[in-house]
Amino acid sequence: MIKFLDLQKINAQYGEELKKVAAEVIDSGWYLLGERVNTFEKELAAYTDAPHAIACANGLDALRLILRAYIETGYMQEGDEIIVPANTYIASILAITDNRLVPVLTEPDEFTYNLDISQIEENITPRTKAIMVVHLYGQVCWSDELESLSQKHHLKIIEDNAQALGAEWRGIKTGNLGDASGFSFYPGKNLGALGDAGAITVKDPELATVIRALANYGSRQKYVHEWAGLNSRMDELQAAFLSVKLKFLDRENEIRRQVAKFYCEEIKHPGVILPTQKHPDLFTGAKALTHVWHLFVVCCQYRDALQKHLTESGVQTLIHYPVAPHRQKAYPNYSFKSLPITEALQHEVLSLPVSPVITTEEMKKITTSINSYIK
Ligand SMILES: *Cc1c(COP(=O)(O)O)cnc(C)c1O
Repeated sequence: MIKFLDLQKINAQYGEELKKVAAEVIDSGWYLLGERVNTFEKELAAYTDAPHAIACANGLDALRLILRAYIETGYMQEGDEIIVPANTYIASILAITDNRLVPVLTEPDEFTYNLDISQIEENITPRTKAIMVVHLYGQVCWSDELESLSQKHHLKIIEDNAQALGAEWRGIKTGNLGDASGFSFYPGKNLGALGDAGAITVKDPELATVIRALANYGSRQKYVHEWAGLNSRMDELQAAFLSVKLKFLDRENEIRRQVAKFYCEEIKHPGVILPTQKHPDLFTGAKALTHVWHLFVVCCQYRDALQKHLTESGVQTLIHYPVAPHRQKAYPNYSFKSLPITEALQHEVLSLPVSPVITTEEMKKITTSINSYIK
């Protein structure tokens, strides 16, 4: 069976170094709020070029903390609206509703799967305070039009950057495009920890201070609590692992790009629609890193049958995501909403294996299996 993502093989590449730093942390006797988290924050800030980076416990918390900080600083209040793509992973939406803010579910572009910028303006009301863009599947969601919309309506732009670390728009890294950005280092992400971890980057130093405090019980100074915060810290072990793996991220993203290029060139099936790139020079490397291929998602009207065929040929595939957030039991109040593109996508998308350790032989087996499929 070709695994969707072979985490064991991915981390084995750096096994020696990961074990070495783990031993150092164990022996140090210092497990939280220490040097290693400090160092990783500096490395992440340097990598993205964002002025402030704050480590936290996971990607959901990263987004929750950003919104919470906007509330604590008086920029947002309960009931304010956040524009968000309807076809995102539920975490983006949970971060909004957890803060008693209102997600305004907006349709994606059916070809890039990213938020359709042209649909934003009609969803803006006097209560709209921000646009949460999600760089879905690893592709940057950004444009001049988005920037002018945010300026015209005085909206913050928050990036959900869980899937696109390393991607760039005109030389600016994701995480440094918007006002604030949330990262996830869930093991399966392009930069994956060996457990849960997340981070936030922000431009505004005041907001950075509040977020950092909120993630640590609302405290800047031990036993002094200025805000009713939460406990959302990254531990030293995960920070040490992430510092090791960050060094190889660009190399791994480059391999992902080669895998995507191979699929785009080799998959030739009338029923399989390849992912569309907003920026046609996606595969050319250094200057046009607008996609880091966290996922390679194709569309197929008979998706379930194709997936079954691939499973029988020994290829593991996944669906991102089989049920859109507004169709989940968790959100009964949104079930009435009609979002035809989002709803069509949930039945048609299929993610093929893409990883920095996939072999050419495996890729050939996957494309052959797809091309030979007869409905
Ligand atoms: C993974 C992911 C998150 C949440 O990250 P966790 O670390 O699992 O909490 C948020 N948004 C998107 C788009 C994701 O893919």
